[in-house]
Amino acid sequence: MSIRKRLLYGYLLSIVLIVIPFSGAIYWFVENHLQYIVTHQLQQDMAIIDKTLHDYPTEFDELGQPGYVELFKVTRAGAVIYSSSDWEFEDLDHAIPPRGSAPLRRALTGDHQAYLILEKPISVGADSFIASVAHPVAGMDNTLTVLRQGIIAGLSIALVLALLGGFIFTQRVLSPFQRLANKAKTISSANLSERLPMDDPADEFGHLAQVFNDTFARLEQSFEQLKRFTQDVSHELRTPLTILRGIGEQALTAPEDNRVTREALGTILEEIDRLSNLVESLLTLSRIESGHYPLNKTRHDLCQLSTEVVECLRILADEKHQSLRIETEPPILLEIDVGLMRQAIMNLVYNAIQYTPVNGRINVKVFHRSQHIAIEVSDDGPGIATVHHSRIFERFYRVHSDRSRATGGAGLGLAITAWIAKIHVAQITLENNPTAGVTFRIRWVAPTNQ
Ligand code: ADP
Repeated sequence: MSIRKRLLYGYLLSIVLIVIPFSGAIYWFVENHLQYIVTHQLQQDMAIIDKTLHDYPTEFDELGQPGYVELFKVTRAGAVIYSSSDWEFEDLDHAIPPRGSAPLRRALTGDHQAYLILEKPISVGADSFIASVAHPVAGMDNTLTVLRQGIIAGLSIALVLALLGGFIFTQRVLSPFQRLANKAKTISSANLSERLPMDDPADEFGHLAQVFNDTFARLEQSFEQLKRFTQDVSHELRTPLTILRGIGEQALTAPEDNRVTREALGTILEEIDRLSNLVESLLTLSRIESGHYPLNKTRHDLCQLSTEVVECLRILADEKHQSLRIETEPPILLEIDVGLMRQAIMNLVYNAIQYTPVNGRINVKVFHRSQHIAIEVSDDGPGIATVHHSRIFERFYRVHSDRSRATGGAGLGLAITAWIAKIHVAQITLENNPTAGVTFRIRWVAPTNQ
């Protein structure tokens, strides 16, 4: 059942549950009150009969006059001693229901006049009488009938009004909901930047719209990322594939020339290497983003790890006649995933070697100060202009794409390094050196886990 119907039925039910018992109570109160008035009158009449029987038994004639006790009858041993003329006229003896034995009962005459009759045994000395007094209840019945009709009419009108009111009310209450649903239906991947309307951000609908809008914002961001990622990946793959094709075609034009073929094969292998690295990095990134990268943290010496990385890459620095130095302190133990941290340090040192010209100087420093632990990799290469600093850790971001292609980078190394720093609760920063080059720093704020 729709919320609207449920609200409407609930609303009607509560109105019915309030109004019907309330009307019933009013009816019951009025009926009892009117009956009390008549009964009281009958009891007063009965008291007069009683007194007359005891004190003035000869004055029953006067009693039957208008304004006194108009409807009464007195019997002794079944024989009527006296009955007022009105009693006779109304033929009340035949109106009394034969089965009725209660002292107070209702009776209906032949011409459909309703009476309330009170009967009472009265003893005077050795004589036993039965006195009956009656009172017409047509007025009371009419009042009750009018009241009943009024209540039924009022109830019907109230219910119709409540139904109408409930309809308008639920319509008004639920219309923002409908608008939200209508708008949400129109939002797809093509227009994810659109948002749901919010009349009042403080009410429940506003809150709901806000929650949806936040979800849309996240979806939009993910879509954008995915789009950029796909574009970047296709762009990255297109270039080496074009190169491979070009080289292959070139080699085919001179199949008998061994030198050309060997050179082509060499370039093809280089491109395949580049492609493998790219695919490797992309795999790492996609595992990172899906949040399923298995972490294996152990307590390890950061100095030892950095030294290993530096020694491993020294051959590349030597090729470029660069000086590659490392400064470390006594063991600095940290909870790290050794494989990942090695990769992060390697990316930084490798970049330094790659982007620093021949004869350049690269320094790696691992230290522990009172407030922090850090690994710094600095070089005296070209540095990175400050405009690029905010984006340098984004995927596929390269300062000079042409030159980077020549050196083989796809712009993923720093993105992966930044993620590794992040999952090690460390900060990664960079700053240009005062004279030349750049310094990358991975920094743990407090040495709590040493
Ligand atoms: P790449 O695979 O292109 O090296 P990275 O993410 O490692 O990708 O680096 C992104 C860009 O940052 C590089 O293309 C380069 O322009 C710049 N960069 C990184 N390290 C250095 C450095 N030590 N000196 C100068 N530029 C650097």
